[in-house]
Amino acid sequence: MKQYYTIPIFIPEKACPFRCTYCNQYKIADTPTVPDAIQTKTIIEKYLKTIPSYGIKRIAFFGGSFTGMSIEEQNKYLDIATPYIDSGEISSIQLSTRPDYITEDILENLKGHGVKIIELGAQSLDEAVLKATGRGHTAYDIERAAEMIRSYGFSLGLQMMIGLPEDTPKKSMETANKIIRAGAKYTRIYPTLVIKDTVLEKLFHQGKYTPLSLAEAVSQCKDLLLLFEKHGIEILRTGLHPSEGLINGENLVAGPFHVSFKELVYSEIWRDIIISKLADCDKTDSREINISVAPSEINYAIGYGSSNREFLKRSYNKVSFKADSSISGRGITIR
Ligand code: SF4
Repeated sequence: MKQYYTIPIFIPEKACPFRCTYCNQYKIADTPTVPDAIQTKTIIEKYLKTIPSYGIKRIAFFGGSFTGMSIEEQNKYLDIATPYIDSGEISSIQLSTRPDYITEDILENLKGHGVKIIELGAQSLDEAVLKATGRGHTAYDIERAAEMIRSYGFSLGLQMMIGLPEDTPKKSMETANKIIRAGAKYTRIYPTLVIKDTVLEKLFHQGKYTPLSLAEAVSQCKDLLLLFEKHGIEILRTGLHPSEGLINGENLVAGPFHVSFKELVYSEIWRDIIISKLADCDKTDSREINISVAPSEINYAIGYGSSNREFLKRSYNKVSFKADSSISGRGITIR
């Protein structure tokens, strides 16, 4: 199996004149300063020393809106990265940007610099949500940009958020379905958090915005994740990167933050599988239950903090989980 490694270069709010209600990039990132050319090269070199030579490596420009910079400024960063592609040390470049910062000139330039993946911060494809969130673009802008990106042969990523102002679980599912129809290969799902010094913080304190509870966010992400999986879309991330300011609460005002958010979502997927399998196999003997799953799934099946094991212990005297290499995917055997 191919092993992919990403070298992240974080460019916070570089050239971004917008203030989405939830966003304060300087608060959620660990690296609030914009790296210059020398620092960018140093970051790449540092990562290359630690990544195994057989791994497939990508340089990823995250944060802010890469293509919102002038072409000259974009090229300052791309020109640092392209020699690594020419030498074969790096396989491709990926970047994230806004849907309204995509033009033919921009795409031509990115193509000539070894960029293969473009991720758009779509966040929602519902007009009312986009407006209430102050995104400054429409759902049509997202669909138009997605189509252009694909027509130039790039792989498309579309990121989405849940729990935004005016959002509902139904609207989030519709957004996910539109992401699928737009031909995205990748997605990221971010629950909305109330970060310090944002418009959302004011709305929250005024009682005009209520974030999702952790349980609601986990449950919505579970449904979205299963939908994306069904359509073969790779989920690159579920939940925000746990930066120091979020972990120690310094930058976090409210919202469904958890350091192991992804694990909570996968644990819930597994709880559903176990409950449904138990209903199927009509296991009435309450003394003992033995569950076998694929080795890669064992921790999720047991559940975050053994939550699924504890859940089963309410009905069974003895609960055991076993990793079985003859089982693949989310297969399960219950005895
Ligand atoms: S476009 Fe991106 S970087 Fe700019 S304010 Fe919105 S979320 Fe933040």
